[in-house]
Amino acid sequence: MNGTIYLDNNATTRVDPAVVMAMMPFFSERYGNPSSMHAFGGRVHQEIENARAKVAELIHADPSEIIFTGSGSESDNQAIFGGVEAMGRDTTVITTRVEHPAVLQSCRHLREQGFNVIEVGVMSDGTLNIDDYSAALATPGKKFVSMMWANNETGVIFPIKKAADKAAAAGAVFHTDAVQAVGKIAEVDVSKIPVNMLSFSGHKIHAPKGIGVLYVRKGTRISPLIHGGHQEGGRRAGTENVPYIIGLGKAAEMAMDELASGGAKRISAMRDKLQAGLVKCPDAMINGSLNERLPNTLNISFQYIEGEGMLYHMSDAGICASSGSACTSGSLEPSHVVRAMGVPFTAVHGSIRFSFSRYNTEQEVDYVLSVVPKVVDKLRGLSPFVK
Ligand SMILES: *Cc1c(COP(=O)(O)O)cnc(C)c1O
Repeated sequence: MNGTIYLDNNATTRVDPAVVMAMMPFFSERYGNPSSMHAFGGRVHQEIENARAKVAELIHADPSEIIFTGSGSESDNQAIFGGVEAMGRDTTVITTRVEHPAVLQSCRHLREQGFNVIEVGVMSDGTLNIDDYSAALATPGKKFVSMMWANNETGVIFPIKKAADKAAAAGAVFHTDAVQAVGKIAEVDVSKIPVNMLSFSGHKIHAPKGIGVLYVRKGTRISPLIHGGHQEGGRRAGTENVPYIIGLGKAAEMAMDELASGGAKRISAMRDKLQAGLVKCPDAMINGSLNERLPNTLNISFQYIEGEGMLYHMSDAGICASSGSACTSGSLEPSHVVRAMGVPFTAVHGSIRFSFSRYNTEQEVDYVLSVVPKVVDKLRGLSPFVK
């Protein structure tokens, strides 16, 4: 197998060539400012609105409810700090222990400022602890919930319809970080699921890094993080990142086509083949629910082995995967997600995440299956923990 086998699509994805093509004119001849009075700028404004309509369609929103931001992280920060600022200092903030750092660290920052912050736990398969969540919602007074739709490390899907219904019944404002869910599962539909806010990111769906979206349902109050001009309806100042917005519009259109043509099934078939091969390795265990899971993600632990060692050997063979989140790797701390699930200590350091995209092939899976079990054997032979 030549070149790179890229199985790290929950970290970032390749920009689709059609997305690059759509963006190109907006780096060169179509450089007008969308806010200008002249028609040269006005035509760029129209292209932004076309992109906004496609992005809205991807999640079944109204275009007026779409705010373009600089990243998924910014969208999460805007939702949390902007939402809570509009609600007041006596708001209780409810989140979960397995969120992406963009949510978890934002909520912990609010805690340092004196907010009551509740972190709801998960079950051993990574699914939401519903009893804990219901207990948190029973807190008297104003409540703001931020809960991810799908977990970036395990792919586990939270029951967002049920969670948002419960929040609505408790009078709470509900935000979801849907960065890993948008474009991967068709259920992300704000016309059916009563979330107040939803974040997602371009570079997880084959658009460039550095463009994000915050959906804000009509009637939900938020304060802007970035003050200045009137762009994005006064909710996010700054001259628009035109090429990236156009690119995201194209990527949204392609994600819709991919979902409509059964792409999720093709991807899960490859993932399941990899899983079936790898669980045959001795002392392998899958982290996360097998049912409530994204079609593209496999998180598997090879007990008694360090994940980092696995990744180096796989990288030498041209295979890109990940241990936990990009944000925690580099430190020797095990991932907060597998720890929250209570994964045994013999396995928590050996967790590897494989994440697929529409660019992967079955041939690549065969190649990975010819490499990884050998790496496992080799490292097990060196492990001081093996009996
Ligand atoms: C990648 C990711 C983010 C952050 O998005 P950026 O655009 O990289 O800032 C937030 N939440 C989840 C679940 C993610 O996977």
